[in-house]
Amino acid sequence: MIEVAFLGTSASAPSVDRGLSAAMVMHEDQRFLVDCGEGTQRQILRSGLGFKRLDTVLLTHGHLDHILGLGGLVSTFARWEAATHLTIFGGGWALERVRDLMNVVLRGGEVQLRINYQELQPGLFWHRRGLTITAFPVMHRGPGCFGFLFEEESRRPFLAEQADGLGVPAGPERRLLVQGQPVTLPDGRRVDPEQVLGPLIPGVKLAWVGDAAQTESLHEHVLGADALVIESTYLDVEADMAVRFGHLTASQAATLAYQAGIKKLLLTHISRRYSSKQILAEAATIFPNTVVVRDLDHFRVTRAIGETRVEALPELVLPCPTNGETPRPASAGIELLEKRELG
Ligand SMILES: [Zn+2]
Ligand SMILES: [Zn+2]
Repeated sequence: MIEVAFLGTSASAPSVDRGLSAAMVMHEDQRFLVDCGEGTQRQILRSGLGFKRLDTVLLTHGHLDHILGLGGLVSTFARWEAATHLTIFGGGWALERVRDLMNVVLRGGEVQLRINYQELQPGLFWHRRGLTITAFPVMHRGPGCFGFLFEEESRRPFLAEQADGLGVPAGPERRLLVQGQPVTLPDGRRVDPEQVLGPLIPGVKLAWVGDAAQTESLHEHVLGADALVIESTYLDVEADMAVRFGHLTASQAATLAYQAGIKKLLLTHISRRYSSKQILAEAATIFPNTVVVRDLDHFRVTRAIGETRVEALPELVLPCPTNGETPRPASAGIELLEKRELG
């Protein structure tokens, strides 16, 4: 099972409803912050997920709408959360920009945090506790942009009822059986793993693409994923702008999902010039199993035998205290007059 919590889903600049790109991917006790746009630390607080065990950041690329939040996050970590280290994976250019940002944050020794910069190359870069992560190249604007494939290792479930029936005591015998080793019970009977392990359940596969200029080169990397998270900055009516600024349209993203046999498409990096409905309408005509995600949407991706489930969990939002203020109408936000989506 892999869980995804979206923290920021806006393209380029924040809107009243959407923060800048960031998400938390979780597998058992492992947590990864994927991108960290400005304001991410507050979204983490609003989500209720908290900062604990959050020591690994994966950057899709180095544009400011994906990295600026690291400054505030590191400052808070060092001052209030007693964190001692942070590992940041990213392309060379993204890490160079983050280093520059950190020079400002960490200068003078007021904030102390050990930052471990890990430059990504295409290929496997994470293999721990039943999860692998592979980086693959993505074409956007600028060098060193990456997508990520999170893959859970396949497993055979332990059938506790069978074990009970065979009289296997709770304890080390069960652990050995789960590890595939036979055990001999105190009464001399031998129990084989085959007797207490269910059929192989393939691990969940989650493909992640940040900003992208085209989808052709992505097909082989995302093929057959249970869920694909990908940007959808433009609509097809403005495909020329998408090309100009190195972004995708909703129909391009949906076509990739359709052709690559994706089970569920999660669209993010949404321009505030369009409504979610417009994005969804365009994508769903090509790939119906699409969700245009919102900030604090939370999904659980699971797989039983032959079946993928991508469940939407209750929204993570802890309602913002209004302090008696009257909510501002959406029109009070700053309107983005230009059509450019530079991030
Ligand atoms: Zn962006
Ligand atoms: Zn970008």
